Amino acid sequence: MIPSLIRFRTCLLLIMIGLTLLLSAGCLAPGQDEEKPAILVAVTIPPQEEMVREIGDGRVDVIVLIPPGSDPHTYEPSPGLVARASGADLYLPLGSGLFPVEDVMAGRLRAMNPDLAVTAVSSGVEVLGSGDRPDPHIWLSLKNARIMAENTRDALVAVDPDNEDMYRANADRYSARIDDLDKKISGNLFRNDPGMILVTHQAWGYFARDYGLSIVSIEQDGKEPTARDLERLITLARAEGVAVVFAEAQENRREAQAVADEIGGRVEVIDPLAPGYLANMERIATAFAGS
Ligand SMILES: [Zn+2]
Repeated sequence: MIPSLIRFRTCLLLIMIGLTLLLSAGCLAPGQDEEKPAILVAVTIPPQEEMVREIGDGRVDVIVLIPPGSDPHTYEPSPGLVARASGADLYLPLGSGLFPVEDVMAGRLRAMNPDLAVTAVSSGVEVLGSGDRPDPHIWLSLKNARIMAENTRDALVAVDPDNEDMYRANADRYSARIDDLDKKISGNLFRNDPGMILVTHQAWGYFARDYGLSIVSIEQDGKEPTARDLERLITLARAEGVAVVFAEAQENRREAQAVADEIGGRVEVIDPLAPGYLANMERIATAFAGS
């Protein structure tokens, strides 16, 4: 009993000495602070996180205001999340007027933290839709993503100019990956026109524009379709030989299933708000191409 206790104590002592040495070595080593995230960045939706992390490398940490599985058209961030985000150095909304919750958020965050820098990543993006009904789904275009990456880079440079070179190099690398995927999608996946693509949610206007696709949504201008709309849509889908209805992870799939049953097709679920942006875009494009 006693010898083993002594051994245990000796062992503990050695571990503590070891830890102390390690910690003091860590404190003395130059440049240690650089390893810790120094810039806290708040973003609106999960697809933005990858972009900020890739461009910011180890310098940034990211808070997503609308977590995976939530609907940005209706979501209200919890007071706890807002309080945590108020410690951010930078908020990167998609853009004013796109998702109304962003303007509310920016107002609340600024009230709590007047030093907060706010930069809309859609600056320079051609927004589709009408003035009172802009299409907020700008990230579902790789061409837009490229502009968003540049705006993200510039915003990081503005709050942390000492690391400008690093942000520029990382942004160049990430933009090259965006371009590669864009070329792959236009050159391989959609070399042959897949015909009419049927989705539930009207989110794919930018994507359809980029690749010259016909993407038709069941939802009409953000509203439920009327019985007559549905009838027309089903007739069209049958005539076009549509076999898949693309529903979204965030929504009730009953209507999608009803339409799929009518056309003798199936429902596939896609998630335009998934994290892991580039991989998700490739997954969705592949699903569209194979429909
Ligand atoms: Zn949407």
